[in-house]
Amino acid sequence: MGNGCLHLASYSIFHPHIFVKRFFGVRERNVPLVCFQGGTFIVFCTLYIFRASRSVRPKLPPHVVGRNPLVKFTFRFTHTDYSRRMKIIKLQVSKTLQAKIQKGHPWVFDYQIQNQNPEDGNPGDLGIIYTSKNKFLAIGFYDPSSEIRLRILQWGTPLSIDAKFFADRLQKAIALRSFLEKQGTSGYRIINGENDGFPGMVLDRYEDTTVLKLYTAAWIPYLDGFLDSLAKTLPVQRCVLRLSRNCRNAVEEISSFREGQILFGPPLDCPVCFRENGLFFEVDVFEGQKTGFFLDQRENRQRIRSLAKDKSVLNVFSYTGGFSVYAFAGGCQSVWEIDSSALALKTSRDNFELNFSATKSEAKEFQQIQGDAFTALRQLQDRKNSFDIVILDPPAFAVKKKQKPKALATYRRLAESGARLTRPGGLLFVASCSRQVTAEDFFREVFSGIQSAGKIYEEIHRTGHAVDHPVAFKEAEYLKGIYLKISGEGIKKERKNKTL
Ligand code: SAH
Repeated sequence: MGNGCLHLASYSIFHPHIFVKRFFGVRERNVPLVCFQGGTFIVFCTLYIFRASRSVRPKLPPHVVGRNPLVKFTFRFTHTDYSRRMKIIKLQVSKTLQAKIQKGHPWVFDYQIQNQNPEDGNPGDLGIIYTSKNKFLAIGFYDPSSEIRLRILQWGTPLSIDAKFFADRLQKAIALRSFLEKQGTSGYRIINGENDGFPGMVLDRYEDTTVLKLYTAAWIPYLDGFLDSLAKTLPVQRCVLRLSRNCRNAVEEISSFREGQILFGPPLDCPVCFRENGLFFEVDVFEGQKTGFFLDQRENRQRIRSLAKDKSVLNVFSYTGGFSVYAFAGGCQSVWEIDSSALALKTSRDNFELNFSATKSEAKEFQQIQGDAFTALRQLQDRKNSFDIVILDPPAFAVKKKQKPKALATYRRLAESGARLTRPGGLLFVASCSRQVTAEDFFREVFSGIQSAGKIYEEIHRTGHAVDHPVAFKEAEYLKGIYLKISGEGIKKERKNKTL
């Protein structure tokens, strides 16, 4: 046991930086040298006495002594008032949840905690779970401001949660995506949260700008250390912070970090331009949805490109024109876009112009309809419009469980409209990013919608996440898509709720 505890002590209280901070009340990033010189004698004497005493009288809480992984804190905090050592909290959960965690489940919700010692904690403290036989099971970030009270960082084998721990994981995540650059892609997800071992964190790259999106305030005490290794590992110029609405207040309460803050790098007063499969896109990293672009649809966009030659395309929920630019690049005849956001449609035009010369632009038909997609789809049907390819990639309809029934009905209505607007022999692509809707439920509603339109369908392909969005546990699966060949009139099934 002793080794673990001494190691812990030497890297925490007796790390000179933290010692001086705690005993002299210094909070700045760089503790003045004079403090070190003045305090050196005291530091080493105390270290000697403390080490000697620890071997017979452990000071850590009993549940930690002898069982804790080596937890070292060597980060320096500049944006927070965390000048303390992170607390270690023991959490007790049911045997059923223990079994789930053992298989790699990464979350413990507040209501699942049966016992906690000590009873209070701050965002970023470390929660440890043991099995009923007192064997180390997992360690993770504790966050009292989130209903996901614990986000697990490490399972089974105890490891030091320190700068190296995160730097190693970051390198691994970068290596996994390294092939994308060779494909002409400089916009991709580097860290996909829990799935890359960084619970509650997403890191997207757009050329030389990265966007860090946090879903928990637990990252705040570790952020400076993480940014240090990010700047050292990736040749990027800048990092912008985006905060999920769920954690914004908690982050702002404990630190000076703010939504939209540039964490490092020069100011930014224009959109960022990046490449995806050799095509150019502009992204607003401050105001754009998610981190600015829907990187998760890259592979579907590429597939549409390969199918678009000489086709007419309807791109519904087009946002900044990702699918449209790919369809043009694939040689389509025309694109019609529908989106409610005027800004998104304007950016889509900009993206078109970024990629195609004025002459080519004139030769192509590019129409945009700003407004509600459901109304616009009905109007197109009334006017008897039809298209070779119809793309339906809507926003999430079900974020919460109770929204699921309505979401299912909406997918059905959308698929029905899409099928009506697809020419015989044409292609319908429908996607869902609703977490609460399973792939099985989604596909069933899509099929049902197409049948309601009185069309026959042939399934061509099903898709999920792009490679830079790996999925390590069930709850992380959110994206599903399906390609269908729509062929002519089928037997029309009567439905009670047939609208649109
Ligand atoms: N397919 C896009 C991403 C779509 S995001 C891509 O590949 O980049 C969802 C889009 O739907 C957003 O641009 C949003 O403005 C739009 N939207 C949301 N509700 C809408 C509605 N009722 N009618 C039309 N557009 C809507």
